[in-house]
Amino acid sequence: MNKIEVVHHMESIKCPLCDSDKSITRYTIPDSLLGIPGLFVLVECAECGLLYQNPRPTRESIGYYYPPEYNIYISPPWSNPNLLQKILHLYGIKKRWNFVLRHAPKRIGKRRILDIGCATGVFLAAGDDSWQKIGVELSPQAAEQARYLFGLHVYTGMLEQAPLVGQKFDVITLWDVLEHLHDPLASLAYIRELLSPDGVCIIRVPNLSSWEAQFCGRYWGGLEQPRHLFIPDDRTIEQMLSRAGFSIIESASLGGTYHVFMQSWKFWLRQHQYTGWKFKIALRLLDNIIVRAILFPITWLVDRKFNKGSITTIAVKSL
Ligand SMILES: [Zn+2]
Repeated sequence: MNKIEVVHHMESIKCPLCDSDKSITRYTIPDSLLGIPGLFVLVECAECGLLYQNPRPTRESIGYYYPPEYNIYISPPWSNPNLLQKILHLYGIKKRWNFVLRHAPKRIGKRRILDIGCATGVFLAAGDDSWQKIGVELSPQAAEQARYLFGLHVYTGMLEQAPLVGQKFDVITLWDVLEHLHDPLASLAYIRELLSPDGVCIIRVPNLSSWEAQFCGRYWGGLEQPRHLFIPDDRTIEQMLSRAGFSIIESASLGGTYHVFMQSWKFWLRQHQYTGWKFKIALRLLDNIIVRAILFPITWLVDRKFNKGSITTIAVKSL
């Protein structure tokens, strides 16, 4: 088999949540983020309602859709030349830590946190020294950055490959990671084993039941194909966690409407064949501080009034 056939290899699957093979086609869309060639099909499970990609790249071929430039979306905030984006990124990380501190179990000694898909380690590094911080990251370049920039302890590879068996963590976080996993139920079951009895698992995923998802349809920023292998809503994420032995103690939304809106605008432009300078100019039309200031009252209201583009759930072991 030559290389081209390997990289494009796709597999047909049953619903990753309920194992049903009955589904209806919802979207056939391109890679709107990176523009890697191909069309990808999202189907809705006729039994449980989960939206998932079918067929999808296999575990072996998925790497083709994560080229090195994917890392630019997870670069440290201070290397971002756009001041506004830099501030918002730092503010977002602060909000995430406040959330962790509010829900983490209390301990006398050091608490242990595991960040799965820790990227360049920006989130972990923002935690204080009262934490023992461990990361797992698939991208060798990102993992190396996390070690080099922050001296973090990061394992490169899949979660299951990291030598963590028998260890326990007080907090396990997955920020925008679960929807990238081939077998979310198996990964969640494994995460459950790594959690201390009173530990919490904090998971952020795109929210298909959000106002933005309904409004933007096939252009919604949450449909980051072919890397989002499924896209949950507030009902299916609860079912998924419950099947894996978790119960949700709180759901919140930490992502901003403006960010999702910008991502969706980008996706619209790409799907309408905007490239090169046309793409850049059209993007700048909306992505600047003046437009943001004008839109602020609207996005502020939407943030408070409607379901936002992502859900962050805090889950504990149900038994
Ligand atoms: Zn299903």
